[in-house]
Amino acid sequence: MKQKETLLTTPLKEEKLAVDNLLIEEMGDEHKASSVETPLRADAFDISDEEKIAAIEPHFKAIMEILGMDLRDDSLRGTPLRVAKMYVKELFQGLNPANMPSMTLFENKFQYNEMLVEKNINFYTNCEHHFVPFFGKAHVAYISSGKVIGLSKLNRLVEYFSKRPQVQERLTMQVGKALQTVLQTQDVAIMMDAKHLCVSSRGVKDDSSNTITTFFGGKFHEEQTKIEFLKDVDIND
Ligand SMILES: [Zn+2]
Repeated sequence: MKQKETLLTTPLKEEKLAVDNLLIEEMGDEHKASSVETPLRADAFDISDEEKIAAIEPHFKAIMEILGMDLRDDSLRGTPLRVAKMYVKELFQGLNPANMPSMTLFENKFQYNEMLVEKNINFYTNCEHHFVPFFGKAHVAYISSGKVIGLSKLNRLVEYFSKRPQVQERLTMQVGKALQTVLQTQDVAIMMDAKHLCVSSRGVKDDSSNTITTFFGGKFHEEQTKIEFLKDVDIND
């Protein structure tokens, strides 16, 4: 383990910067949202997390009061602050590129040039149209171009992009593109398989349907490689 650690001290910061730059580049000069980038205003992080929490609390309180709830009740009194903290510090903390996990890369010393698949990564995120959860499994694969990544970093990357108001298509692409940047290869594939509470708990109330999205880069466009990935993932497992 020691050996791996020393290998990696320098690239770390650079990789993180590379992804941050990619994120900012995709937002464009006017920070207008492309389809891949989360629509954020240019002043998104001008105020601190604490200021955001303080500002959200009265708004959430107002929603509850408008719904007719009595905020003097012991059970409800703390809810506006609790929700404000949860939004800023937990559910949506991945909006801020400062919270991007550092990506530990290792030299691929053992020359493993085959596909690596990490399947069944649990994720929880929130639909940006209804602010209710969607959640499921992410399956992530890449073929090393000379660098390999700590496996837990794949989980962390999925988690980071999940902690935003999201749509599943964008979440899938954001994870895929970030991984391509970090690993310096196009050969990345992502599949996400999720249940959306905005479909199952409201609206059409269909609780049997799943939504599957995919991202294929580089060699994963080739029939053989794609089939191998899909076989490894075999989502019926
Ligand atoms: Zn929704």
